[in-house]
Amino acid sequence: MMKSEEYANKVVLVTGASRGIGYAIAEAFARQGYSLVGTATSHAGVEKITALCERYQINGTGLRMDVGSIQSIEEGMALITQDYGAPTILINNAAVVRDNLLLRMREDEWRTVMQTNLDAIYYLSKAVLKGMAKARWGRIVNISSVVARTGHAGQVNYAAAKAGMEGFTRSLASEMASRGITANAVAPGFIQTDMTQSLSELQREAILNNVPLKRLGQPQEVAAAVMFLASSEAAYITGATIPVNGGLMMG
Ligand code: NAP
Repeated sequence: MMKSEEYANKVVLVTGASRGIGYAIAEAFARQGYSLVGTATSHAGVEKITALCERYQINGTGLRMDVGSIQSIEEGMALITQDYGAPTILINNAAVVRDNLLLRMREDEWRTVMQTNLDAIYYLSKAVLKGMAKARWGRIVNISSVVARTGHAGQVNYAAAKAGMEGFTRSLASEMASRGITANAVAPGFIQTDMTQSLSELQREAILNNVPLKRLGQPQEVAAAVMFLASSEAAYITGATIPVNGGLMMG
């Protein structure tokens, strides 16, 4: 089978594909000719992903899904399976921040981050496993963060969710290894997206002082690590977390 045919036969689901890192990941899959479903929460986001699929002339679409809602995940998964077949590559990328010092953190700020960033990977991963087990091949790549290990003031919710995600990834990797399904994480440092747009000049300078490569990363540089983990060539890598952080945290 030609590589392009192999890619077209694989259905990829990327959550939060409307912007930033998720969009770069979706574009990397589209460029290689995979069948692609990318999710967004807004109509404009869905249109943007559908336009991406059209631009690369691939089988794929944007799909409205709120990963913080079980009902929305279930409805979305039913549509994907009906129209495209079971995804064998899942990229859990969608996430939100609700930063606050713990002393001031409201319960809704804690809950929203836990639901969107951690609960969602439970529901989505569970939903794709049957199809992957049937295909005896699957790739789950979870987008974590450097703060899962370093922690960050004002982000107890976000850091806890990302650290949870990494533990989830390692346990799932052990459970599914015998079926040809790998689960890995990619932990970006500071990447130029809407999420880091709100940093003040002072914060940006402080961050760059600690980054040996002296710049923010680009979404495409995170996508490159994701593409490798999602490939057949990465079959012997599972339960790993690949850092993409300009040297911000080594080892
Ligand atoms: P971003 O620019 O803020 O984009 C977030 C994406 O997630 C958007 O596509 C958004 O969709 C989607 N999303 C948000 N809430 C959602 C929900 N409830 N249901 C479905 N989708 C939802 O973020 P980013 O910087 O690209 O971050 C992508 C991933 O990388 C995240 O997991 C983040 O934690 C991680 N990360 C980022 C950095 C960084 O420096 N940027 C560093 C470390 C880790 P809409 O457009 O519809 O809102």
